[in-house]
Amino acid sequence: MRASRVAVLSTGTELLRGRSVDTNLASIARALETIGLEVDYHATGPDDLDRLVEEIRLASARAEVVILTGGLGPTEDDFTRRAAAEAFERPLVFQPAAWNAIRSRFRRFRIPMASINRRQAFLPRAAGILPNPNGSAPGFAVESAGRFFFALPGPPREMIPMLQKRVLPRLAAAFGNRARFRLWEGRVFGMPEGSVDEIVRPIVARRRGASYGLTVSGGTVNITLRVERGSPLPLVRALRRKLGLFLIGPKSLEETVGDLLLRKRQTIAIAESCTGGLISHKLTSVSGISAALLEGLVCYSNRSKTARLGVPAELIRRHGAVSPEVAAAMAEGIARTAGADAGIAVTGIAGPSGGSKKKPVGLVWHAVHYRGRTRVERRVFPGDRPAVKDRAANFALDLVRRALLKG
Ligand code: ATP
Ligand code: MG
Repeated sequence: MRASRVAVLSTGTELLRGRSVDTNLASIARALETIGLEVDYHATGPDDLDRLVEEIRLASARAEVVILTGGLGPTEDDFTRRAAAEAFERPLVFQPAAWNAIRSRFRRFRIPMASINRRQAFLPRAAGILPNPNGSAPGFAVESAGRFFFALPGPPREMIPMLQKRVLPRLAAAFGNRARFRLWEGRVFGMPEGSVDEIVRPIVARRRGASYGLTVSGGTVNITLRVERGSPLPLVRALRRKLGLFLIGPKSLEETVGDLLLRKRQTIAIAESCTGGLISHKLTSVSGISAALLEGLVCYSNRSKTARLGVPAELIRRHGAVSPEVAAAMAEGIARTAGADAGIAVTGIAGPSGGSKKKPVGLVWHAVHYRGRTRVERRVFPGDRPAVKDRAANFALDLVRRALLKG
């Protein structure tokens, strides 16, 4: 049997019964891939002490790295601490640092603490504590002779941050220069998947041991590039040259726009009609955006467009609310009234009703006003109402991204 490098153990009878679905395996495998490690063994065990001891022994014999999730809670059926102690033949010892972390969390949130929580401070001798900022159960790590065992909590919202913050850096330091492959991830916006493929395929084909995959969501094409040896950078440079402004980099559209605004110290305001606040919602998911985003208005009626943004009633009467003229006036109006460097506006017909021959369902006018210029773009998006809203919001964010990069 060839020794595998990384094993993932999921624990929980509820996983075996199909009451919860094992998403931890997928999260862990994907995260490890970014540092060139591949999971090649996985097992799910029930909440049973002897079975867990057996699984931990088996996995540790096979793999250099074992990551186990679940069973760190304070109750009788949370066996991970005891199972690891037995499997590694290290007694459980009380760790005051773990105890302090548990107690201070309960104090901070003013939750009464049950005496059984003290159990969570008993860890295998010489185990390192992995702090858990989002839950009471601390994780732990057992390292010996270049082999690693990590125990993380089961709930994904607790597990993932600990994986990112504690486990990946440790493993990258230990295995980084032995990684079998390197990954690069990038996103392309505004180009159909087929066209992206036509550009990526010949570039990747030039290099032996290089491969790629494309996935699509909401008008964004995600590229995952994998090279077996050396750095992916020469390929990435070639991709950049060909894709130009279509390549938005590794982050999401809204994060990219947020970063650009903050870096360039530019402010923005948003006037939305058919997207109903979705652009504002997306931008406000970017942490720190309050330094750039001044306001977002949903100006749904014609009266609101006139009263809030100063769009002349006559303009709306002449061209209709869904028109390039009104989109431009909305973008200029929101930038002016908010006193922002940039203004975005969207007006369209999200459907399923309200379309006509000249103005079909899915028709959206987008406008960006920046540095004294207003750029207006028309698109007709396929799909149902939520899909049209999402596409339109993304397209507007992309227009801002392009305006900021050029300005
Ligand atoms: P807690 O302190 O919350 O009890 P724990 O570390 O003891 O945490 P478990 O009791 O094993 O974790 O699981 C708690 C919950 O976490 C499960 O009910 C399930 O919703 C989720 N969970 C556990 N394992 C997984 C997994 N592999 N994938 C996705 N979710 C999981
Ligand atoms: Mg539990």
